[in-house]
Amino acid sequence: EAVVNRIAAGEVIQRPVSAVKELIENSLDAGSTAISVTVKDGGLKLIQVSDDGHGIRYEDLPILCERHTTSKLSKFEDLQSIKSMGFRGEALASMTYVGHVTVTTITKGQLHGYRATYRDGIMEHEPKACAAVKGTHIMIENLFYNMTARRKTLQNSADDYPKIVDLICRFAIHHMSVSFSCRKHGAGRADVHSVATSSRLDAIRSVYGLSVAQNLMKIEASDSDPSSSIFEMDGFISNSNYTAKKITMVLFINDRLVECGSLKRAIEIVYAATLPKASKPFIYMSIKLPPEHVDVNVHPTKREVSLLNQEVIIEKIQFVIESKLRNSNE
Ligand code: ADP
Ligand code: MG
Repeated sequence: EAVVNRIAAGEVIQRPVSAVKELIENSLDAGSTAISVTVKDGGLKLIQVSDDGHGIRYEDLPILCERHTTSKLSKFEDLQSIKSMGFRGEALASMTYVGHVTVTTITKGQLHGYRATYRDGIMEHEPKACAAVKGTHIMIENLFYNMTARRKTLQNSADDYPKIVDLICRFAIHHMSVSFSCRKHGAGRADVHSVATSSRLDAIRSVYGLSVAQNLMKIEASDSDPSSSIFEMDGFISNSNYTAKKITMVLFINDRLVECGSLKRAIEIVYAATLPKASKPFIYMSIKLPPEHVDVNVHPTKREVSLLNQEVIIEKIQFVIESKLRNSNE
C-alpha cells in the first residue's frame, strides 16, 4: 500500500514547484496577508512556506495529512464548486508520502503554537508546544527522497527555482493585497518581493518591472446570457511597444491559477494578425464564471482547465482584444 500511495502522491506532486503551488494556495485559503517562500536546491532539499493566516487548530493536527482531510468541504452542496476549485484534501497528504513534512502553527488567541511532523500520511509524535508567530509555517524536506528516478531527473534538469519564482510572480499580481516574497535559503536578498497594493498596475510593476507595466492596456469583457455563456473577464494586455521572446499568459479563473492552452493560442493568433511585431504578448487575465462551468480534472495537477461554452468565451475574448489592439494602433 505504501508504494501505491507514493505513486499516487507523485502524480499530485510532480515537481517542487507543484508543492509550492499547493502550499501557497493553502496559505491564501487561510486568509493570509503575507506569504514568504524559501527554497534550497531547487526545492529538493527544502521548501518552506510561512504565512500569517488563521492557523490550524490543535485538534486538527493529528488528521491533517491523512488523505481527503479538508476543512473546505463543509456542506454537500459545496461539493460541485469545491471540486471545480480543486479542493480535494490531497496535497498535504501527498507531500508526506514523498517528503518529510513539518508543520508549525498557531491559531488566534493562543499563547503558543504547536509543531508536528508527518510521514506517509501519519503524524509521527504528539504535537509539541513551541513558540510561534501568527499563522502557519510548513517545511517540506528531502522531496522525492524515496523516488530515486524522479530525484535524478530533477537534479539533472535545470532546477525548479526559476519556475517557483515565476509562479510566485503570478500569484503576486493576482492576489495584490497579499505580500509575497521568495528567496533561496541563506540568501539575504529576496528574488521576489511584492508589496501589498490596491492597484493592479502597481502590482505588475512591482513584480515584472516598469518595462512591462508601462506597456499595458486594460481590457474587460462579459456575457450574462445563460444560453451562450456566463462570464466576466478583466485584465491587462501588452501594446505594440512591448516585445518579448515568448508569450507570458497569467490566467486566473475564479481566483485559481490555471492554464488554458486553447485560450492562450487564440490570443497569440490575434496578436500575430494584428501586431505582428509584438506578437509575443504579456497577458494578465482574471475570469469569473459559475464554478460548475469549470472542469479542472483534465490533469492531475489541476492546472489545465476546460470551460463550458469555451468556444463562445474564447471568441468574445478574441474580439475584445482585437478591437483594443486596433484602436491603440491607430
Ligand atoms: P485542501 O486544500 O484541498 O483542503 P490540503 O491537503 O491542501 O487540502 O490541506 C488540508 C487542510 O489543511 C486544509 O483544508 C486546511 O484546513 C489545512 N491547512 C493546510 N495548510 C494550511 C495553512 N497554511 N493555514 C491553515 N490551514 C491549512
Ligand atoms: Mg490545498
